[in-house]
Amino acid sequence: MGKLKQFARCVLAVLALAEGGSSQANLTDPTAELLQQLIRIDSVNPPGNDVGIAEFLAKTLAPLGFQIETIPTPVPGKVHFLARLKGNGANKPILLAAHADVVGVERAGWHVDPFSGQEEDGYVYGRGAIDNKGSLAVFTEALIRLAKQKIPLERDIILLSEADEESGRYGTDWLAENYFKEIDCTAALNEGGWIIENSDGSVRYMSISTADKISAWIKLTAHGTTTHSSLPVPNDAISQLAKALSELANYRTKVHLLSSTRQFLLTMAQVSPAPRSEEFQQVVNGSDARQVEAADREISKDPLLNAIMRNTFAPVFLNAGFRGNVIPGSAEGTINLRLLPGTNIDEILAEIRGVIRNPGIDITLAGGGDPSTKDDVPALRKHFEEISAVQPSATDTELYRALALQGQAAFHAPVTPYLFQAGTDAAAWRKRGIPVYGIYPYPIALEDLSRMHGNDERVRVRSLAQGTEMIYKVLLQVAATSSAGTGQN
Ligand SMILES: [Zn+2]
Repeated sequence: MGKLKQFARCVLAVLALAEGGSSQANLTDPTAELLQQLIRIDSVNPPGNDVGIAEFLAKTLAPLGFQIETIPTPVPGKVHFLARLKGNGANKPILLAAHADVVGVERAGWHVDPFSGQEEDGYVYGRGAIDNKGSLAVFTEALIRLAKQKIPLERDIILLSEADEESGRYGTDWLAENYFKEIDCTAALNEGGWIIENSDGSVRYMSISTADKISAWIKLTAHGTTTHSSLPVPNDAISQLAKALSELANYRTKVHLLSSTRQFLLTMAQVSPAPRSEEFQQVVNGSDARQVEAADREISKDPLLNAIMRNTFAPVFLNAGFRGNVIPGSAEGTINLRLLPGTNIDEILAEIRGVIRNPGIDITLAGGGDPSTKDDVPALRKHFEEISAVQPSATDTELYRALALQGQAAFHAPVTPYLFQAGTDAAAWRKRGIPVYGIYPYPIALEDLSRMHGNDERVRVRSLAQGTEMIYKVLLQVAATSSAGTGQN
């Protein structure tokens, strides 16, 4: 009995030690700790005050030999931050970019303080945990490892903590226009693709975004007779607009697959059970139009898959009427177009006219802001044409190959290029011919993706550690001199 008691006490002690050990291991994971610190610095945009992040990173990185530069924007407190780990200059730099600003929170929906970086059940919680302070922490920690190990580099590696990605006008476009020399590089990593987990925690696939969809807006203006509402006439402006919007809502654009999307869908076929796997195959390689159409209908029930396979149109503003007893003479609706790279704007406008079939409705390019502001249509058109001409980043570069190779090695899962369904700030480099690869560098469950910009945003401590290891190895592969060895310890 005495022995048994002693044994039980021993087991309890071991369990306590194990528990203490594991929670301590979580707390001492350097990337998780870094992320915690970044989350605690409030950089909600607006106002997007991220100078605190810059000061924290400067304090962390300067003693390790990084060259530090803070670039102020015209808005006080809003800065871009650069830390350069110097190489021997034999090759052009690699850039690691992550935005430091975050979107606001609905505090009532959180079960922890969104700015505490609380660690719970193996996750770090907080606004920005996924988007995009998690990336900033992974990139920074991978670079800290290289710096501490004094790995000789054949090129500089630049860490960029960006301002104004979530809202505002001093983001990377502004930075590239004014300080391109500081961020010029041979290739860059940025946010974009995903390392998606299965429910058992294994990785299903890793996607690396090589292009972004393009956002544009159009305004539909319907015209009618202004008159007393007691004497309605057919074809009033509001009813015409409503009919046009309803035609657009019922219209399905044609499937158009970029080469990255074809590869992505074939990867999905590889990792999905039947019949879904056959549907992915059909959409990419099918020859029977009816079967392709049926497969498309099934796959497109997922809004994300729908979005990467075609152009989409979504109404975002309505503006009509001014008195309760007057039928107004005009009615306006604004539609957000999300278009595939390479789309011709005149062809899209013609397609929309064909759907609406009402020549009395004006269709014009719009800015997407407050509908009452006057749009500079020629400038909008020029901007669209410039963005639409940006080529997807090639997959035969050193950086893409390294990321794909290290991703495969780390997660034993297929890696595929990917078209990002929304826009990112990668355009600042891509339009200057510099390839940008998008990745959120931590395995994540699909369920957790919906927490991005939502409540209880979180990232797993283990995922942060895995991501740091992967990025560290990518950097060794693309930047260490051949005499540097593996640099692993
Ligand atoms: Zn983001």
